[in-house]
Amino acid sequence: MSQFWSPFVKDLVPYVPGEQPKMTRLVKLNTNENPYGPSPKAIAAMQAELNDDLRLYPDPNGDRLKQAVADYYGVKTSQVFVGNGSDEVLAHAFHGLFQHDKPLLFPDITYSFYPVYCGLYGIEPEQIPLDDEFQINVDDFISATTEAGGNSGIIFPNPNAPTGRLLPLAAIEKLLQHNTQTVVLVDEAYVDFGGESAIALVDRYPNLLVTQTLSKSRSLAGMRIGLAVGHEDLIEALERVKNSFNSYPLDRLAIAAGAAAFADRDYFNDTCQRVIDSRTQVVDGLEQLGFEVLPSAANFVFARHGQKDAAELAAALREQGIIVRHFRTPRIAQFLRITIGTDEQNKILLDALKTL
Ligand SMILES: *Cc1c(COP(=O)(O)O)cnc(C)c1O
Repeated sequence: MSQFWSPFVKDLVPYVPGEQPKMTRLVKLNTNENPYGPSPKAIAAMQAELNDDLRLYPDPNGDRLKQAVADYYGVKTSQVFVGNGSDEVLAHAFHGLFQHDKPLLFPDITYSFYPVYCGLYGIEPEQIPLDDEFQINVDDFISATTEAGGNSGIIFPNPNAPTGRLLPLAAIEKLLQHNTQTVVLVDEAYVDFGGESAIALVDRYPNLLVTQTLSKSRSLAGMRIGLAVGHEDLIEALERVKNSFNSYPLDRLAIAAGAAAFADRDYFNDTCQRVIDSRTQVVDGLEQLGFEVLPSAANFVFARHGQKDAAELAAALREQGIIVRHFRTPRIAQFLRITIGTDEQNKILLDALKTL
């Protein structure tokens, strides 16, 4: 604490990301990075950019990336927003769309950045419990809205994190039909590993905003690239906030890499399918060892063991150089979140669990 701080800074509770250990030779299955590298075409595009003119500022609008996203999803570029990771896109959405003096609704078990941004932007959070199977129940969001006399918005990841559970598009559509007065933000960080994107609905619901990241399915976590797709009025709010904050957000390498990654559909489809196939094997292996594994549509699984304490298992794995994520939070303290790795990494994990 310091007298020099703006008063609100002392009350901030910052997000704590999964550990990025400095040790090498780890089996790192704790932050849902992709086990395969980015598209070779994305690497080549960055190399070409290095040979170009880094002396110059990047395109303030990232048009090349917006165009690649628009082509991929069949939307207009005016419906696309891009930012430094979807975390930044989410920050602009909280700032520009969710400050309405009513609670913002999100699941009790979800991405832990949401409450952090509520703190930063002075938004009252209201957590709606997942059901007993750890699923989002849209009816609970609808009745919470009625009881509270409205909301500032609704946000959830689909598939949810850290559970991995997927909400079908029909349920999202039901929510949109009942919640027409505020923004519904669907955070699709993991949708490419088995979900159906709600971008299919943006032309019918002007209050639907969908965010995605290139950190997971496109394996560019190190480049920090995220996006949003929605009605152009929602995109304009994000652009206004962004242009009042940082007028050149994405650097030249990120724009080039992101556009090339979206254009390389074969590499993307192939690596996503490899992760999905490995996930089936990891689930089988864990179930054989007595784990209960929630159905996952993501590049991770959320699992608990009937007899073994999750914190002890995570610590024992760590001693063997295998890092998984454990949350000391109510309801999920007995779960481990395990990122799907290469087949070799998955085998090391399952062998280690077997001996434990
Ligand atoms: C990883 C993740 C993000 C952030 O992605 P970045 O683009 O790397 O900032 C956002 N939401 C959820 C649910 C995530 O898991």
